[in-house]
Amino acid sequence: MTVAFGSEVEEGSAEEVLAEAVERFHPRLYVACSFQKEASVILDMILRIEPEVRVFTVDTGVLFPETYETWQEVERRYGIEIDVYQGMTLARQATVHGDELWRRDPDACCAIRKVDPLREALTHVDAWVAGVRRDQSSERADSPKLGWDERHGLWKVNPLADWSEEQVWDYIERYDVPFNALHQRGYGSIGCTHCTTPGSGREGRWAAFDKTECGLHG
Ligand code: SF4
Repeated sequence: MTVAFGSEVEEGSAEEVLAEAVERFHPRLYVACSFQKEASVILDMILRIEPEVRVFTVDTGVLFPETYETWQEVERRYGIEIDVYQGMTLARQATVHGDELWRRDPDACCAIRKVDPLREALTHVDAWVAGVRRDQSSERADSPKLGWDERHGLWKVNPLADWSEEQVWDYIERYDVPFNALHQRGYGSIGCTHCTTPGSGREGRWAAFDKTECGLHG
């Protein structure tokens, strides 16, 4: 069963929203994969719907070893190759911006290492899929399951927008889905090594800064 786009899409389950997104947009649909638990669920779901769906990740160059391990495990498990987008090399960033830009100006660092590569990834497609959940933060509380992404000029699909953390773990357990081992060591949310500490929800992201988002979603 698929659901119609427009306001009715809000009534659809995650599978129904993804099925509709595939029907409308594939192959000009791009699934963003952060190798966090929500991405694990989305990949497992959408690859059952469309095994040829296109998947990409943004590699900042400073991801955790566990994240790179999850990446390998996901590719092995599903027999897929995930497209990679990267910003300026770390060496070049240090030359142009000096050392430890992430500490001095995390917004500038995120712009170079995350936002620019994402923009490049989204240039050639009509819609993308992300793992945003409304209960992750106040900034994400109004995220629609399908909405126009003004910043990037294309549709954005958030199939898990109304999911709870418990629902995510239930799905992972039920279908034995590969997931990032850091989640079991107290990391509710996982980003770059420099800017992620253990914590529930997103409290471990940029914990030492007045910053809550990297600019990918808001
Ligand atoms: S999360 Fe930290 S290290 Fe990663 S891109 Fe943003 S500021 Fe840089």
